[in-house]
Amino acid sequence: MRSLVLTAPGQMGVADGLPAPVCGPGEVLISINAVGLCGTDLGYFSGYRTPPTTPWVLGHEAVGWIVAVGDDVAPSRIGERVVIEPNYPCGDCDPCQKSSPALCTERVSLALTSPGLLSELVAVPSEFAWELPEGVTDEAAVCIEPLAVAMAAVRRADIRAEDDSILVVGAGAQGLLVAEVLRAMGRRVVVVDPHEARLRLAVTLGAESAPADELFSVVFETSGSAAGGTSAIEAAAPGGRIVVVGVGDQPVQLDNRILVRRGLTIIGSMIYDHPHDFATTIAAVAGGIVHPERVLGRAFSFDNGAAAFSSAPEAVGKTWIKLVGVVLE
Ligand SMILES: [Zn+2]
Ligand SMILES: [Zn+2]
Repeated sequence: MRSLVLTAPGQMGVADGLPAPVCGPGEVLISINAVGLCGTDLGYFSGYRTPPTTPWVLGHEAVGWIVAVGDDVAPSRIGERVVIEPNYPCGDCDPCQKSSPALCTERVSLALTSPGLLSELVAVPSEFAWELPEGVTDEAAVCIEPLAVAMAAVRRADIRAEDDSILVVGAGAQGLLVAEVLRAMGRRVVVVDPHEARLRLAVTLGAESAPADELFSVVFETSGSAAGGTSAIEAAAPGGRIVVVGVGDQPVQLDNRILVRRGLTIIGSMIYDHPHDFATTIAAVAGGIVHPERVLGRAFSFDNGAAAFSSAPEAVGKTWIKLVGVVLE
């Protein structure tokens, strides 16, 4: 089996001849078709994040098909096309017990605490391999995990009828997906990004670019940058909510005069809550309500994976990697 492995910051290559993962009780073995890259993966590649060990396998946004099942899993699942939910909450800690599994303190996160999905074969717990309905393409499916992040952020924003002006800061893939969800809800969405080509893509997908002085009742911060965080707060209207999705390596300067005088609410939005956010997201894609594949950018082959990682920070649209698929002997 082959995996794309990070050996040091900026150093990545295909490792061949690795043993196929063991499909334990309650698990399914998945042949991976495609993996999307996100800012978290790029943080490890750049060295801003440190993996638990090296070599390390990145990637947590993946679609594939089930090629084997462990004990306690129905053999009829073999052959299912699936999308993987790559965060496994423990179910026992305080946040899990209080219905906030996204905040689990013992969470297993693929590519962060456990090896990721940029491998030809991966074993995951059966309940985190979601069957894809007919008609959901690999292109759409590879975007379902970050779309679940976007849909959970919009859910937590509690959008109301009077929220007639919504701003998305950042036109990377996460910002584009938030804008796509809001577009599907029939909302007017303004996007800002200093990267002109990214902003052009956002406008092509139906967003507006910002007039300089408008204030917004809801602001989504997706860039993770210190400047993005500051501009999100400055752009919020009195009584506004700022939903923070992006994380970065620099703290955000918070002008507490703006916070207090405008009566702002800041909401941190951490991934999605298992299992309902993934279920809702898959249904929205299968129903043709949301079209996440519109945010895809360039696809790279598995062998060219290092180039995918080095070009992604400046790329327009989500960079993704296609695998050929393996056949079990
Ligand atoms: Zn991600
Ligand atoms: Zn937990």
